[in-house]
Amino acid sequence: MSIADNISFFRARIDEAARQSGRSGDQIMLVGASKMNDAAACRQAIDAGIDALGENRVQEMTRKLAEHAYDGVPLHFIGHLQRNKVRQVVGKATLIQSVGSEPLLREIEKTAGQLELVQDILLEVNIGGEEAKSGFSPEELLRAAELAAQLPHIRCRGLMTIPPVARRPHQNLPYFEKVYALFVDISGKMYDNKWEYISMGMSGDFDDAIRAGSNMVRLGTGIFGARDYTK
Ligand SMILES: *Cc1c(COP(=O)(O)O)cnc(C)c1O
Repeated sequence: MSIADNISFFRARIDEAARQSGRSGDQIMLVGASKMNDAAACRQAIDAGIDALGENRVQEMTRKLAEHAYDGVPLHFIGHLQRNKVRQVVGKATLIQSVGSEPLLREIEKTAGQLELVQDILLEVNIGGEEAKSGFSPEELLRAAELAAQLPHIRCRGLMTIPPVARRPHQNLPYFEKVYALFVDISGKMYDNKWEYISMGMSGDFDDAIRAGSNMVRLGTGIFGARDYTK
């Protein structure tokens, strides 16, 4: 199966899940999680019509940017972002999906201000309450949203979540439903609301995520194949 074959296979499944939630597949943004895949693979995905590419690691993103790996599609940052690396991502990524702390919000604001641009972000929700994972707890989310709304160089566009690793099929559906409910609740409270995206769902659970209301899925292995961690 080529990357193009994988994309059409997953688009069909996205269409199906979207239909089951009363929408159509073209309302779902397909982000290719291209970590550990080279610039040639990224270009194949772009040629096959991927909507955006997402990277996790700043160093890898910087290298592939220099190789023009993402030319033609929006680039998203989807990984854990350290404050000392913010300068390498702001203005380079169209959307920083993984903003999970107030210090990080403030650092992005500061850097975007210096660069005189407005950075689109998503607030990351730690919906499983996992110690090791970053992201705002559901209880912290409204305060984070209100802070983001006050920062002039940040435009919050919605929520992103990475639920716990599932041990059985459909295990994460309740988490996806909770994040959707948070999206509806908090975006409804925002004055001048610019919230549009709910980024949830990966190769193993994107259909449940879509059925729960996701409109942005991040697919890695499903599109690029298994990642080779020996390289
Ligand atoms: C790698 C990654 C994905 C894609 O995961 P797959 O299971 O390979 O589809 C999605 N989101 C984030 C944040 C990732 O790091």
